[in-house]
Amino acid sequence: MDLKEKLVILADSAKYDASCSSSGSKRKGDSIGNTAYSGICHSFASDGRCISLLKILLTNCCIYDCKYCLNRRSNNIKRAIFTPEEICTITINFYKRNYIEGLFLSSGIIKNPDYTMNLIIETVYLLRNKYHFGGYIHAKAIPGANKNLLNKLGNLVDRLSANVELPTEKGLKLLAPNKSSDKVTEIMSYVNNNRSTKFVPAGQSTQMIIGATDETDLDIMNKSENMYNRYKLKRVFYSAYIPVNKDKLLPSINTPPLIRENRLYQADWLLRYYNFKVDDILDKNNPNFNLLLDPKCDWALRHLDEFPKEINKCSYFDLLKIPGIGVTCAKRIISSRKYFSIDFKDLKKIGVVLKRAKYFITCNGKYFISNSNFKKDFIEYNLLLEDNNSNNSSGKQMSLF
Ligand code: SF4
Repeated sequence: MDLKEKLVILADSAKYDASCSSSGSKRKGDSIGNTAYSGICHSFASDGRCISLLKILLTNCCIYDCKYCLNRRSNNIKRAIFTPEEICTITINFYKRNYIEGLFLSSGIIKNPDYTMNLIIETVYLLRNKYHFGGYIHAKAIPGANKNLLNKLGNLVDRLSANVELPTEKGLKLLAPNKSSDKVTEIMSYVNNNRSTKFVPAGQSTQMIIGATDETDLDIMNKSENMYNRYKLKRVFYSAYIPVNKDKLLPSINTPPLIRENRLYQADWLLRYYNFKVDDILDKNNPNFNLLLDPKCDWALRHLDEFPKEINKCSYFDLLKIPGIGVTCAKRIISSRKYFSIDFKDLKKIGVVLKRAKYFITCNGKYFISNSNFKKDFIEYNLLLEDNNSNNSSGKQMSLF
């Protein structure tokens, strides 16, 4: 099999892994490429997946048989395996042609976790030391591999990820019985305890498949919050379950739950940048996100007693709770109001999304909407109408009723 054919197979097999994003590392030097601009080097295809890195598998052969995975042992698909030298050749050629700025390297498990990790290490070692590639490298750590190997790999790459795959141990037992969340958290813990400017400088991430098992959004967000707190993950990636296999243990859906995936990303953003806790946005009575409204609007409507907030007086963290106001706008509001009293027209200039914020605020005691319309039904109807008019996140028009 020639190199091009391998590339087609192994790039295609890698597309289901959403856990890559090139950011957060600062290596510069005499080597080819650098990661200094990695914060802006990633871009996303129309389906939301990162495309600026060369994203490939070392092999799509696998000794495991995870029910949801195209590359599982029992599938009759074309298999291929790169040699470490082949991956280096492709990476350097693509880099020199300006097609990519880095590499995302994952792999099926061949023989055993240690054997697979050794091949990944050999590849990255050659790239760094023989080809002097200084660009961004994100590699997959193989759960169950020896700690020494993890240590070696961590000293060669920018980012490591070990995928939790499914939010609960119960889900793993059902669909991926060869995996255990303990082995993944061992990696996360090791990386977190040893992270430095040389060891995994861009931090670690993970991926969860959404909708393959019956966990609620509350279960998923609790898992994410726990991993952010305990292992200081940079990102949790949520990947809507794509039905590529037939199996009675898998849900019978035809299309991936993309709106749900989007809601989880929005909620994840609230945890990381808006000072929300999972308990604020979901609870046992509301364990799943509203698919019609984004989590912040949904939360605000369920907590109308905390609104309206007075723009000229409320704290930075209260500003962040207002739909339509993000981190940048909240900072601008705080600094502007030192000099003048902010009115609705100023908010537009500041960048506030007034079509959302106007229902939840007052400026100098004045409502944008009439006081008598400060009611859940009225606000909800109008927010849905706005969303419907400007197409919702799925790209489709959604019925209001
Ligand atoms: S370990 Fe499971 S998810 Fe990963 S490649 Fe093998 S079968 Fe697929």
